[in-house]
Amino acid sequence: MRPALILIALAAGFYFYDIQSQPSPDFTASSPSPKSRPDTKPDPKPDPKPEDINPDTILELMPDTLKKTNPTVDKNYLMGRFDPAQDKRFAKISPPLSVSTMYIRKEALEAYKEMHAAAKKDGITFKMTSATRNFDRQKGIWDAKWNSKKPVDGKMLPPLAQLPGKERALAILRWNAMPGTSRHHWGTDIDMNSVDPSYWAQGKGKKEYDWLLANASKYGFCQTYSTIGANRPTGYQEEKWHWSYMPVASELTRLYGQMIKDEDISGFPGSETAVEIGVVKKYALGINPACK
Ligand SMILES: [Zn+2]
Repeated sequence: MRPALILIALAAGFYFYDIQSQPSPDFTASSPSPKSRPDTKPDPKPDPKPEDINPDTILELMPDTLKKTNPTVDKNYLMGRFDPAQDKRFAKISPPLSVSTMYIRKEALEAYKEMHAAAKKDGITFKMTSATRNFDRQKGIWDAKWNSKKPVDGKMLPPLAQLPGKERALAILRWNAMPGTSRHHWGTDIDMNSVDPSYWAQGKGKKEYDWLLANASKYGFCQTYSTIGANRPTGYQEEKWHWSYMPVASELTRLYGQMIKDEDISGFPGSETAVEIGVVKKYALGINPACK
């Protein structure tokens, strides 16, 4: 085949490369039989490996309609530059399962529904407070904190001149991701019940957290931001409310690590600090090792 034909053949293979057909080995080992796991084995035909293909080339080859309605796992998807409402891999979730209507990957929704029902039987009620947030939504959160319009750790950041550049970004990064680096872009990660750490420390919140620790892995969910320490030396503070749906998220984590560089992070105030901080390695990939 001529080089151009080979490239198109590889691109077609990559487009149909389906992360759902390749559940992570860790998940398979630790979780016996969630219904969302496919029953069939991965196609034995040798698929082109995503790392061998330049994702920018794929985008050039894809027709605009396909790009819009069903983008593949490319840099735009990994960095949240798409509309989940236009992506067939996503479904709506609405009250009472969530606090408002939002979007989530279909596989994660099915698993969440099962977990929600099982918890209900034990007298525990979960409500999703956040699921998919694309780049623009995350930029809204980031910009408000950067511009001292929303509090960071309970109070507004001082004026830019007093707290510039890297230090300003690091203050926000205690709890919030830079646009382009949030796992909420993927539709695999969810927040539940409360984003206030004190909620989870006692009473109702502690009972809910203990239930998640004992049961969430049966449905494929893992606490992404565990305590900072030897196991997780860098990244956001511990978040007992944020859980990743592993059968899809673990593959996306791997692809993110391969395809996204600090230099790709741009388009918002403070993005110039991404390289200096090393946001991809320290934050996007600074997760609970059990969730990889
Ligand atoms: Zn979250």
